[in-house]
Amino acid sequence: MNPRKEMMGYTYKNNQYLPYNELIGLYNWDIIGYSSEERPIVSAVLGDGTRDICIWAGMHGNETTGIHIILQLIEMFQSKQINTADFKLHIIPVINPDAYVRYTRRNGMGIDLNRDFRSFQTVESAKLIGWLRMIEPELCFNLHDQRTIFHVNGNSAFTSLLVPSSESTREITPLRRRIMNRLGNALNALNHDLTGVGRYTDEFYPTAVGDYLMSQGIPNILIESGVAKGDLDRTKAREFGVQVILHSLTASEETVHTYDRLPVNDKGQLEWVFTNVLYAHMRVDVAVKRVLAMNGHHKAVIYTVDDLGDLAARPRLYEIDGSHIGLTEALSVDRPITGDFGAVVFEDGIIVSGQLEE
Ligand SMILES: [Zn+2]
Repeated sequence: MNPRKEMMGYTYKNNQYLPYNELIGLYNWDIIGYSSEERPIVSAVLGDGTRDICIWAGMHGNETTGIHIILQLIEMFQSKQINTADFKLHIIPVINPDAYVRYTRRNGMGIDLNRDFRSFQTVESAKLIGWLRMIEPELCFNLHDQRTIFHVNGNSAFTSLLVPSSESTREITPLRRRIMNRLGNALNALNHDLTGVGRYTDEFYPTAVGDYLMSQGIPNILIESGVAKGDLDRTKAREFGVQVILHSLTASEETVHTYDRLPVNDKGQLEWVFTNVLYAHMRVDVAVKRVLAMNGHHKAVIYTVDDLGDLAARPRLYEIDGSHIGLTEALSVDRPITGDFGAVVFEDGIIVSGQLEE
């Protein structure tokens, strides 16, 4: 045991994927239960104040930025960069370890935990709700990652926020209004450019954790970490997420509409677009995207064809003039890409020479 509870030798700086055994070994966690495949579900408490806050991540095993948000909070707490005198931060870095080790969305039994918060058939969702009912927090943070497709008025959505609905009419109940105010005051206090910060849709999903909790009077904020141009590893989202949490702790519930005024995010953003490429006697735009998967304990990147045709109306992170490119290999949407794109050459989804701007 490590009685000092120090996190040893860890750098979260590039949001690297941590094998679960390494994550477990980083800190003197408490084991609060086991997944369906008997992996430990761990937790920790930062601070000894009277106001209880719950934070969890890793509900979807391929959404890992929230884990790094939590590790950064631990590090800041240990180095006394944050004052949690009034608070107890209860944290679970990975609520779905069976999905995390596979780098997939669904748990070991093939169930999406975020669609199991009505029937509670998985041990992981049952564990999370039991933990929350024991603690009765004044506020929760539910940490996820969003896909690259999300943008806000054409800017990549590096973070999306949501104070979920508690029923299908999406009524702004007094509880919901209080949390919207609290988040709005936090956004004002953190004094950050909000370009690229969106509101996630508040359509009611009765089986999603945040919506279910709101329906039960348990206030919570969803933080969806995303990419930005030049920041595909989501560092900006991690740092922003940490600040949203810290500022929300102490923010007042006085009426303010900063959160309400955030634009609702939209889908359709592409990653790399080669424009005006010569392909089978046509001139087309070719969109390429990354697909991340596990290769042993490490993350592998496969480049696939996202779309092709006239893509001029779609926002994109990176655009490359492809008018000098002539492709000879067939392209197939959602399949690993093969082709000589000039500055970069792909073979079966792998870059064999050159590189893509990141
Ligand atoms: Zn998710």
